[in-house]
Amino acid sequence: MIQDTNDNASNDQQLNPATHPSNSLDWLSRLIAFDTVSRHSNLALIHDVRAYCEQLGLTVDLSFNEAKTKANLFVTVPAGENADQINNGLVLSGHTDVVPVDGQDWTSEPFTATIRGDKLYGRGACDMKGFIACALTILPQAVQLSNSGQLRRPLHLALSFDEEVGCLGAPLILADLKARGITPDYCIVGEPTNMAMVVAHKGIAVYRCRVHGKSAHSSLIGQGVNAISYASKLVGYVDTLAEELSTRDDNDALFTVPYSTLSVGTIHGGTATNIVPNLCEFTFDYRNLPHMTQDDILAPIQAKVAELNAQMQARAPETGIELMQEESVPAMTDNNSAELQSLIAALTGDDERHKVAYATEGGQFTNAGIPTIICGPGSIEQAHKADEYVELIEIERCDGFLQKLLDSCTAK
Ligand SMILES: [Zn+2]
Repeated sequence: MIQDTNDNASNDQQLNPATHPSNSLDWLSRLIAFDTVSRHSNLALIHDVRAYCEQLGLTVDLSFNEAKTKANLFVTVPAGENADQINNGLVLSGHTDVVPVDGQDWTSEPFTATIRGDKLYGRGACDMKGFIACALTILPQAVQLSNSGQLRRPLHLALSFDEEVGCLGAPLILADLKARGITPDYCIVGEPTNMAMVVAHKGIAVYRCRVHGKSAHSSLIGQGVNAISYASKLVGYVDTLAEELSTRDDNDALFTVPYSTLSVGTIHGGTATNIVPNLCEFTFDYRNLPHMTQDDILAPIQAKVAELNAQMQARAPETGIELMQEESVPAMTDNNSAELQSLIAALTGDDERHKVAYATEGGQFTNAGIPTIICGPGSIEQAHKADEYVELIEIERCDGFLQKLLDSCTAK
């Protein structure tokens, strides 16, 4: 880490795993120096963390993307008398990728951690290398407790790739755990919450709708099928559904927007005013409350598409509507996490539960049956922006939290 702008010495450190940091701020600086923007490889970071874990005597599991340019890392500090117990346990989970800095106006170099005042600046400072830094810092102590037989609950670390581009990495970790018969008791996702406990979030599904009509001169509309007109019927239907969602009586007041939402975001169509358009395309997203599924909304829209398709094809068989899902991240439910919530509330002395609208890998963990909460340093307000920062006090608070969590893993 450096104070204000200065030369960056961490490149040398990256080549020498013997000199890994021993505190969270140094770890955070080291992690920020790896440019792990989602479109790039994260392997340099992963191999650095792997070297660190192996030096601690741990066995590391990597799972790769198809092109082998990115990897997830999963490592367990075992528990039990013989220190071979790796089932159950507590997962600390974080994504290693960060969002791009293109076009953003940064005061200091985004991939060089810089402390100004009481904040540390750098891409990933809060989202979410801060949490990973704290988790890596406490690892040697966990290993020590494991070696001396005092660790009663295994501690796992799960680092993923491609979270920011649709949560693509975490499912591979979960599939691996399933194949290995490992069922963690709990998971904590360290996305930035200012160390508050987030117990649920909405799911997100993004759809693209392509309406294929038939061109004709606008003076001869009987010969055409107007793609924009049919698209607008469907847009109108999506808006009607959105209206219905907002007035359901099973809404959840703990969310800022207490109901599931549907929103049309883009629309393109037509070439000239005097041509009946043969193509119109629009996108919409659906953000569902955890108790609603993505099918709840898809089924009525598909039925409407079928109805409109029949009308269009009666006029010209080559026309019709394509509906495609572009992205889908499941909601995180608090249905199975009461015990974990009590544990966290007892450790932090803060009983308050929050629910948020942004999606994380937490939904994938709860979908896999692993009770999960989100709790991490920094604020989501600073995520993805120029001059992303984390307050130093937040890193301290996260260190304190993980210490208590580790202590709870040694309790009889
Ligand atoms: Zn994040």
